[in-house]
Amino acid sequence: MKKFIIQAFIGIAIIFVMLAGMFLYFQPKAVHARSIRSNPLKETSISDIETITIPFEQAASMYPTNQALLLVNEAHPISEDYPSNVVEYKTSGVLMNECVIEDYSSLSAAITNKFNNSLYVSSSYRSYEDQVRVLEEEGPAIAAQPGTSEHQTGLAQDVYVMYFGGGAFIKSDEGQFVNSNCYDYGYIIRYPYAMQDYTGFAYEPWHIRYVGLPHSKIIEDNSIVFDDYAELYEPNKFYEYEDYIIGRMPLDAVTVPVNFDGEVTLSEDGLGYCFVTIRKAAK
Ligand SMILES: [Zn+2]
Repeated sequence: MKKFIIQAFIGIAIIFVMLAGMFLYFQPKAVHARSIRSNPLKETSISDIETITIPFEQAASMYPTNQALLLVNEAHPISEDYPSNVVEYKTSGVLMNECVIEDYSSLSAAITNKFNNSLYVSSSYRSYEDQVRVLEEEGPAIAAQPGTSEHQTGLAQDVYVMYFGGGAFIKSDEGQFVNSNCYDYGYIIRYPYAMQDYTGFAYEPWHIRYVGLPHSKIIEDNSIVFDDYAELYEPNKFYEYEDYIIGRMPLDAVTVPVNFDGEVTLSEDGLGYCFVTIRKAAK
């Protein structure tokens, strides 16, 4: 009798575990829930700066543009022929978005200086056609759908050091350094460990995504995911962060400084707006 009770108990326990497992498995994943706790940016007036409000094309003839803040994810795919501005990194044969070259070089140099080791890139720019092939080879559980991979922009680099590739990258000192300090080099860990529910991706310690300074630091300081970054900015307003002023403007009416002593960069976000990143000149 006692044996029967134990068996019945084990049977019930197994059924319970199975039911719990099924329940968890079929739960919809909370992809892209809001992760912004409070807006860390301070709204600022730029009334002391002379400005002009013009269409994006006209502003782009006045100031340099880059693609650093383009959002690419499942909800915001890019077209097959998106004009990714890629160039060869040094003479490596590796193609990267032009805007990452300088900062990637600094990050790579930091690894060499600190660890006497080399940072390698296993994958950087992948064309739409490359992604079609990767999807066929690796399957949809691993590979992104064509048009939804950041690699198509050349803004993402998959990095490793010898003997520590993929998930093992974080087990190396170099991987720890990259994951903790890439923000100082304009990069973010695009799919962080603690943010899997928000990005919809498992942790990828090797996939670094360039967004440029100071955007990488704002994202890091406030523990948000890039998918939600644009929501920090109310269009047509300016915000202060360290010695930068940042605004997010609709493409048909972009407010930019004129006769201004400092750097201005324009970056379309793919959502119908462009970021105006202003760096005040050092006094
Ligand atoms: Zn990647």
